[in-house]
Amino acid sequence: MSHACKLAAGNWKMNGLRANLDEARALAAAFPDPKCGILLCPPATLLATMRDALSGTAVMVGGQDCHAQSSGAHTGDISAGMLADAGARQVILGHSERRADHAETSAQVAAKASAAHAAGLVAIICIGETEAERDAGKTLDVVLSQLADSLPEGATSANTVIAYEPVWAIGTGRTPTIEQIAEVHDALRAALPDAGISLLYGGSVKPANAAEIFAITNVNGALVGGASLKAVDFGAIIAALEGAPD
Ligand code: PEP
Repeated sequence: MSHACKLAAGNWKMNGLRANLDEARALAAAFPDPKCGILLCPPATLLATMRDALSGTAVMVGGQDCHAQSSGAHTGDISAGMLADAGARQVILGHSERRADHAETSAQVAAKASAAHAAGLVAIICIGETEAERDAGKTLDVVLSQLADSLPEGATSANTVIAYEPVWAIGTGRTPTIEQIAEVHDALRAALPDAGISLLYGGSVKPANAAEIFAITNVNGALVGGASLKAVDFGAIIAALEGAPD
């Protein structure tokens, strides 16, 4: 059993306008004193206003990506320091949608994670196999090499969280079996340099399957996409995490 902190992280992806801040407020009101970390990662346009809307609550806000440089001629990009300045405490890095849509490599993810650490942010580093890689029996090879190549120097439980997200389970309604999740999380736990680094599962986590996923040894929480957009759904997932064994 690890001593990793429990975390429920919501990834709003490219969803959310100011009107949707009511969902964030409702979530915060439902968990005035949560037994786990709660994080919402809205699009960058909403970060500062969500931070203000959640001021004085237990819900943290985070970014969905950052640049590896601290400033400069990188039109459209956002630095880790800018995210911190807007109120972010954490940043998702290497999400499979960014690895696919923007051809991000694990080496780039590691550089971004170093930049996040330098800005005082916790880096939530995402890894996961494609369906073809799983079918070819390469899941553990893929995730362990992504982990080794995406983790920067100096990664500790204070500045890093790992999210295992099978690409084929994201946004599809399909999830791995309990045994498949356990196999990967056990392998990741054994490979991590710090036993306190939290390991999240991500991929079609819903109120209906959250409790059985959180009961798996070495699953310390979840990275949640679609179900994090509604306070009632994300709230049910958070309640399941609060009730899960440590
Ligand atoms: C994600 O975006 O990281 C994710 C896990 O999405 P979903 O929960 O919608 O599958």
